[in-house]
Amino acid sequence: MKKKNSIIFLLSILLFVSGGVFIYKSFSPRTRPEPAPAKFDGGRALQDVYRQTDLGPRIPNSDAHAQARAWMQTELEEAGWQVDIQPFEKLGHKGYNLIASHGEADPEIILGAHYDSRIYADHDPDVEKRNQAVLGANDGASGVAILLELARKIPAQQPAPHSSIWLVFFDLEDNGNIPKWKWILGSQAFVDGYTLNPDAVIILDMLGDADLNIYLEKNSDPKLRAEIWAHAAVLGYEDIFIAKEKFSMLDDHTPFLEAGLPAIDIIDFDYPYWHTTEDTPDKISAESLEIVGNTILSWLKHRR
Ligand SMILES: [Zn+2]
Repeated sequence: MKKKNSIIFLLSILLFVSGGVFIYKSFSPRTRPEPAPAKFDGGRALQDVYRQTDLGPRIPNSDAHAQARAWMQTELEEAGWQVDIQPFEKLGHKGYNLIASHGEADPEIILGAHYDSRIYADHDPDVEKRNQAVLGANDGASGVAILLELARKIPAQQPAPHSSIWLVFFDLEDNGNIPKWKWILGSQAFVDGYTLNPDAVIILDMLGDADLNIYLEKNSDPKLRAEIWAHAAVLGYEDIFIAKEKFSMLDDHTPFLEAGLPAIDIIDFDYPYWHTTEDTPDKISAESLEIVGNTILSWLKHRR
């Protein structure tokens, strides 16, 4: 009896000690895994699409346009970015580009999206609605939402190199084919106003469609395009980032290309609600926003 008791006692001690070692191993800081890499939150980005469309169409000279700009500035500053406004005038229209940066260094990478929405829904199937403004859930708000969520995640992912990244929110992109207007006035003003030599300019436009199909845009820099599509494929998004050319776009990448800079347009132009009153947030998916955001984060992380 006595012997058996002491064996049980010894076993108990052993279990207690090994359990303690196990617990120590599980919770010791030395064995704690590396912090997970920054992960793009598609749900948060979708909220930011609604935040913009709740203001109404962000057409130039409207209250909603000014409110969207003030809101973007607050979001960027809360995420630790310095925000500069570039006021400009083109064809008699006043515009305001927002530039988010860290410090004084010139950018090696520019990520851009337009934040204005179109004055007229001139592609609406209902002729009566063609003089209404476009709400721009996909055409405007989706690109802004992706850039803002990137703004929250980039500093955590890459504390040092992000000083060479600028996020630019372009104004007056979307009013071409309207008397006294042209497309891409904001990005043109940006290229005119800053002498920069970035080695990558990436424009994000119309990337929230639940049925997301992003083909290679024909005018885009082939090498930079291939890099992004390769990262998408590694993440398993090869059915979304389709490695075939389809459309040729005039978009905010155009002034950069004309200035001889490597620029690409990431755009899903297969969107039936383009420039209609039906470009509303119910067409937008958090997953689509997240797929694009994760691809950009992955490309940024491996770039240096
Ligand atoms: Zn548009």
